[in-house]
Amino acid sequence: MTEKYLVQPDLDFIAQVRNLGGETLKKCYQCATCSVACPIAPENSPFPRKEMIAASWGLKDRLLNSGDIWLCHQCGDCSDLCPRGAAPGDVLSAVRSAAIIEYARPKALAKAVNDPKKLPFLLGIPAIWFAFLAFITMNAGDTMTKIFYAVFGDILGGRFHWSAHAQEGEHAIAQADFFSTWFVDLTFVPLFTASIIIFVLNLKRFLNNIHENAVLEGKTDKTSLDFKAMIQALIKVIPTIIKHDKFNECETNKDRATPHMMVLFSFIGLFTVTAIFFLTLYLFQTPGPYSQINPVKWLANISGVALVIGAALMIKNRLDKLDDQITSYKDWFLLGLVFALGLTGMLTEMARLAHLAGISYFFYYLHLIAIFNLFAFLPFSRMAHFVYRTAAMTYAEYSNRK
Ligand code: SF4
Ligand code: SF4
Repeated sequence: MTEKYLVQPDLDFIAQVRNLGGETLKKCYQCATCSVACPIAPENSPFPRKEMIAASWGLKDRLLNSGDIWLCHQCGDCSDLCPRGAAPGDVLSAVRSAAIIEYARPKALAKAVNDPKKLPFLLGIPAIWFAFLAFITMNAGDTMTKIFYAVFGDILGGRFHWSAHAQEGEHAIAQADFFSTWFVDLTFVPLFTASIIIFVLNLKRFLNNIHENAVLEGKTDKTSLDFKAMIQALIKVIPTIIKHDKFNECETNKDRATPHMMVLFSFIGLFTVTAIFFLTLYLFQTPGPYSQINPVKWLANISGVALVIGAALMIKNRLDKLDDQITSYKDWFLLGLVFALGLTGMLTEMARLAHLAGISYFFYYLHLIAIFNLFAFLPFSRMAHFVYRTAAMTYAEYSNRK
């Protein structure tokens, strides 16, 4: 036997996949019903049968460097038909979670995000940080203004205002009176930038690895990665992602498509609102809160409601399928975070409109903790699925794997 055929199982990897929700992986007896049932798998070398044997043999590199594990949309059709109850859809989901941890840097943070025992730290750190910022905002505004002028001089032409709140008398409550807008932005802009940089570096390694793997397995005839052609492929797959075409090919979990789309569109809406707010504040020196008849406010409110309803439907969907589908901690972490993000945002706004200042500030505090978790742990949580799957679908389009 040559070394080429020597299987060297990674037992730690098998244990990791089982812990992440793939505990059924050893039940598979390779009948291939799942690969036939999968509505998404390509004809050439279809998944998930081959991934099931790779997982049960502990072939870590082969799985984590595979683009195919990301083409699966966890519809559950294969798990429904598996005669052995091996739940291949859940095993692939666990393998994807292991891949996120593997590609993430720093790895300790990735492990913490997937460990329920670390949740008090993940919530406690931003809770302490924002309590500290609230204390300074309310007690040391003058000192902070002096520090700003001492460090930056009058670069804003006398327009520096510590709390950046609405014009006096126009609104009774402005969150910026509780947490300075400057502090909030000085927290989130670097945090978001760091997440994006980590993501870009991770994605570069990911794309190189899945390409090398595809060449080795003969799934592509492209010898090197052409990033210009990849961008063209990305443009082609974006409509598929936006319309959730792949979800609609499923049968078992078809009802996941609508809430998923609501959450996706609400994030796009909220991101647009935040960008407009940020630009008008810093370029045109126009602070919020905006009037309720402002179209930006409409977009914010509609997106907020869609986020709460979409996240609630996703949670209900999971609860309804507890007997058939494994829902692990990482799933609940993300669902809880998205729901908390929408709910605290809406409650902050409702309390503000009802002139309940203390309650509005409290919900805004919780909202900031949720945003911190979303931004800081974006490359490590299940939210990263969206980015890796988009990259894998782009690569599949690029390499003609359909
Ligand atoms: S996971 Fe189930 S359906 Fe797929 S090959 Fe194994 S036993 Fe067959
Ligand atoms: S969960 Fe759905 S998409 Fe994923 S392998 Fe099974 S049938 Fe295919």
